[in-house]
Formats: sequence, C-alpha cells, structure tokens
Amino acid sequence: MYKIEEARDYFVFVEQRDGKIMDVALELIGEATKLVKETDGYHVVGILLGHDIKDLADQAIAYGCDKVIMVDDIHLKTYLPEPYTKCVAGIIQEFKPDGLFIGATSLGRDLGPRVAARIKTGLTADATLIEVDPEHEGNKLLWVTRPAFGGNLFGTIICPDFRPQMATIRPGVLLKNVPDNNHQGEIIAFDAQLSDADINMEIIDIVKKVAEGVDITKAEILVSGGRGVGGPEGFDVLAECAEVIDAVVSGSRAAVDSGWLPKAKQVGQTGKTVRPLVYIACGISGAVQHTAGMDKADLIIAINKDKYAPIFDVAHVGIVGDLFKVLPELTKELEKVRK
Ligand SMILES: Cc1cc2nc3c(=O)[nH]c(=O)nc-3n(C[C@H](O)[C@H](O)[C@H](O)COP(=O)(O)OP(=O)(O)OC[C@H]3O[C@@H](n4cnc5c(N)ncnc54)[C@H](O)[C@@H]3O)c2cc1C
Repeated sequence: MYKIEEARDYFVFVEQRDGKIMDVALELIGEATKLVKETDGYHVVGILLGHDIKDLADQAIAYGCDKVIMVDDIHLKTYLPEPYTKCVAGIIQEFKPDGLFIGATSLGRDLGPRVAARIKTGLTADATLIEVDPEHEGNKLLWVTRPAFGGNLFGTIICPDFRPQMATIRPGVLLKNVPDNNHQGEIIAFDAQLSDADINMEIIDIVKKVAEGVDITKAEILVSGGRGVGGPEGFDVLAECAEVIDAVVSGSRAAVDSGWLPKAKQVGQTGKTVRPLVYIACGISGAVQHTAGMDKADLIIAINKDKYAPIFDVAHVGIVGDLFKVLPELTKELEKVRK
C-alpha cells in the first residue's frame, strides 16, 4: 500500500440513503473538523457514493468537509457490497488518507471490514471516542476507544503500522457542526471504473423497515422506564408525563426484554445512543450498558427508590422515591407550567 509518511487527512464516509445524508456521517464530519485542528495542515475529506448526489456533496461541505470525493454512478444507486468496496478502496489507494471514519450503521458495519480487508489495514469497530495521541504532542497516531466485555471495560486501540487508521463509530455519540453555507470546499469526481461486471448479485426486492413510532435518537425529551416500572401498565404513567411535555417514551433493555417496549425504543450499548436535552430515568438502576447510551444528555433526572442506585452517579437531579408517587406529581406540576 502506501507509506505512513505519505498518509494525510481524515476521511469520512458520507453515508447517504435515499438521497439523505445519515446523521452519523454529519457527526463524523463534526468530529473530524475538531481532529484536523490538532494535525497541522490536515483536511476533512468526505467520500460520497451514490447516484444523483451532487446536492449532498454541497451539504457535506456546509457541515465541514474541505473536499468531497464523489462517485456518482447508476451502479451505486442502492448499496451493494462489491461496488461500494471497490470505490472506497480505489479512493484510498489514490488519495492515501491517514484516517477513515465510517458510521457504525448496518451499512457501515458491512462496508468497513470489507474495505479494511481489501486495503490490508486495521479497523476498530463500534468505537465511541477518537483522539489524536493525547500523550505525545505532534504524534498523529489515532487512539480509538470502544466498549469491551459487555461495556464493563473500555479498550483503546491503535493502528501504528498500516494506513488508513479505520474506525466505525456509533451513531449519536459525536456532535454535528452547525451547517455553514459559506464554507468553501472542493468537489472531486472520482472515476471508479464501475461496470455491470462489478454487480455480482441481483436485488429481487427491497423491504423497507416499518417505522416503529418516533425515532428516540431525534427526541428532545425522553421519559425512560426500566424494570422498576413493573409492566406495560406502568408505562402508561410514563406516557402521561411524556404527553404533557412533548416527550417520547424509551426504556432500558430490561423493559425491552420483558416485552414492555419495542426494541427500537431501547437506550444503551445494544440499543440506541441518545443525546436529548432532558432524559428522565424512571426505575432504571443505571447499569454501565445503559448509561453508555444516555450519559451525554444535557439534563438527566433520575427517579429511583434505591438511594444507592448508580443512575444517581450520572444524574444532574436525583429523586429518591417511588416513581408511581413522584412521576404523577411531577406531571401535575409540569401541566401547570405549560398552561
Ligand atoms: C452485553 C450487554 C449489553 C447490554 N446492553 C444494554 C442496553 O443497551 N441497554 C440497557 O438498558 N441495558 C443493557 N444491558 C443490561 C444491563 O446490564 C442491565 O441489566 C439493565 O440496564 C437493567 O435494566 P433496569 O435498570 O431497567 O433494571 P434493574 O437493574 O433491575 O433496575 C431496576 C431499578 O428500578 C428501581 N425501582 C424498582 N421499583 C421502583 C419504583 N417503584 N420506583 C422507583 N424505582 C424503582 C430499582 O431500585 C432498580 O434500581 C446489557 C447487558 C449486557 C451484558
């Protein structure tokens, strides 16, 4: 491949589906713009694949890309592993990035390892933090951290011998930039030399995922319940509160495993990472696998009858008490404020 000394810039795979850039890609662009400030002369470069996507390149620039390398080709209209891998691998060989970040979506988790294997480099999967070597000034080695052993430990992984340093990063963990339409960037059309021969499978049907209510990652306020809610009737109490404050109901894995909530509403390591303005945790103990998915909320209010519950370690406001007494009172007071 190429030498480490030749590598430069942080590349972000700008995943788009149906002509819309995925939030996680914008979050990665946001993070890359922070990282390039620590690496003299580096730029944020987007890789954008698809068909009829010029507008999306402009959008990626507004969100912080200095360059967007684009392959606009009918063969890329729908995601297929082979042509996408060929394009990303071709772009890496030509442009020699130092780092490449991909959202840990279902597509990214498929594409990332394929590209890493083809390029013969390392990949840290499902990461939650990327830093430029915090211990040695001037060293551009990336430190990529991910949960391990069921979330009980965090491991930091480096890739000292190969380039690019690749990582897939969980959605919802990093922050997007505020879009700036005056930000200037270059769009580079890349000829990946795709042909029908690259399409080695046939799509027979596309089954669209049925939306399961409001997406909890987009909610500004979440009222979240755990095993302490006791059952589906208990969640009616949470829903009443949520209605008053235009919130969405979510929950812990215990609540989901008990069948009280659909999987799409699960917060945490094996659920979704959320970053709402307010997170009200009701009857949730605060296991590390849960808090990993919500501890970046701006305001965390926890209601738990056990004053030693670990949720109080991450909460900004803690209420020790029975949620069935506390929450209806809180709902009444919030109703008064709203009127
Ligand atoms: C690999 C792995 C991945 C995991 N992924 C996730 C994940 O994505 N998300 C997740 O949430 N968990 C996850 N878990 C499970 C996690 O470890 C915990 O088991 C789970 O979060 C516990 O859920 P809980 O807090 O609702 O239940 P519990 O731990 O049983 O806590 C219930 C709490 O309710 C309180 N309570 C009971 N009654 C009341 C009442 N009337 N009023 C007030 N408080 C009350 C209790 O004091 C207690 O603190 C994962 C585990 C593993 C091993």
